[in-house]
Amino acid sequence: MKESKATMRDIPAIDRLLEGLTTQPELAQFSHQIIVSKLRTVVEEARNKLKQNKSVDVSVESLVFKVRSELLALGSCSLHRVVNATGVVLHTNLGRAPLGKSAVRMVDDIMSGYSTLEYNLATGERGSRYTHVVNKLCALTGAEDAIVVNNNAAAVLLVLSVLAQGREVIVSRGQLVEIGGSFRVPDVLKQSGALLVEVGTTNKTHISDYQEAINQNTAVILKVHTSNYRIVGFTAQPDAKELVELAHNHGFPVVDDLGSGTLVNVAVDGWHEPTVAECLAAGTDVVTFSGDKLLGAGQAGIIAGKQQYINKLKKHPLLRALRINKLSLAALEGTLIDYLTGVAYKNIPVQRMLNRRPEELKEQAYKLATMLNGLTTYGWSIDVVPLISKAGGGTLPEVEFRSFGVSIMATGKSTAVLEREFRKYIVPIIVRIQAEKILFDVRCLEIEDMEMIQKACFGMAKGARE
Ligand SMILES: *Cc1c(COP(=O)(O)O)cnc(C)c1O
Repeated sequence: MKESKATMRDIPAIDRLLEGLTTQPELAQFSHQIIVSKLRTVVEEARNKLKQNKSVDVSVESLVFKVRSELLALGSCSLHRVVNATGVVLHTNLGRAPLGKSAVRMVDDIMSGYSTLEYNLATGERGSRYTHVVNKLCALTGAEDAIVVNNNAAAVLLVLSVLAQGREVIVSRGQLVEIGGSFRVPDVLKQSGALLVEVGTTNKTHISDYQEAINQNTAVILKVHTSNYRIVGFTAQPDAKELVELAHNHGFPVVDDLGSGTLVNVAVDGWHEPTVAECLAAGTDVVTFSGDKLLGAGQAGIIAGKQQYINKLKKHPLLRALRINKLSLAALEGTLIDYLTGVAYKNIPVQRMLNRRPEELKEQAYKLATMLNGLTTYGWSIDVVPLISKAGGGTLPEVEFRSFGVSIMATGKSTAVLEREFRKYIVPIIVRIQAEKILFDVRCLEIEDMEMIQKACFGMAKGARE
């Protein structure tokens, strides 16, 4: 106790610390006010630690160093571009879908100036932000009308709030999905003010289960695409057509939360991911899906379906709260144009990466291995290996995409150390680790990424030798 009191008095005066800081040339870019406020927080933290009897270095050097590094961190980017060598195409932690070139050009053009966001060029009057994508979405999906919001979670919330508030929504027990921790179907339903009626069992739900649950207060049958898990074995779910017939006989709609919602076929052996168009063709009244999953645009939630329901959504006050921003809207329109002009598989990174054939990936892995070949003189071992990559982002669960990659091992460096060095590289390289080896899955790598990996590897190998 005595010791801590003595140390408390050792905390240098703010003025003295300030002197040490203002003489540093790298901090010249920060205003006096920012420096002082950061300084006060750092001193306050030190004081609190002392109060809790924790040991802390309160020398001028130590405190100045702390303030300096915190200020420099404030002035630099925390969001970094990274190289994704994990093979996971829609990596949630790495930002889901990378945008295609047309989408990026469109975002750049729209965001750096004024735009027709809500301006009708034909009349010179106020327009609607939704018009830019609605016709395109309808043409691609066969929907009568559509609307877009902030993300798919918002889409589901809006649809249920409008169509089912205070009334019952029937959902199969096999579809009470949780996506990434924060989106749970029962919670979203509750938030919308709708009442969840669970039917069937985890593995089997029959059309009769739905039928028995229908009453005067039923508003919607909600189908949820089990996009991040699969129930296999002894299972049953009525198909969309049966559900539509049942719901329509009772005069209420079927809503399908497709989640991943692809607009085109994903070519993977032994698996068919339902497209939005197929879902609507089965008679589903309203479909919701994400903009930044299989579609490959930015964060957005798309609601497509029958005119009468979309009209109701347009009038609801929640729409304003959940509305899409112009950045995402530009990315979405740019991406939709790629689909409409037949260049989706070529221009949209997610579609291109998911549809790459193993032969092509093998060739690319050999190319990377050749680029890294000189590392053997440093005692590193380089091998081309077959891999399985994943779609990720809570889509296509358990679907295995045959891929190829390069495995490396460095003499005198553990895999953990190596992984960390790649992660801390100027352009961070996120790798896979398997059986004590570092793996670069080539599925999500562009040529620039491979050059970055080459540069990093040679830098590390040379650094270790010096
Ligand atoms: C991903 C997903 C969501 C959430 O979509 P976000 O665009 O991330 O908000 C909701 N439902 C399903 C079935 C999903 O797969």
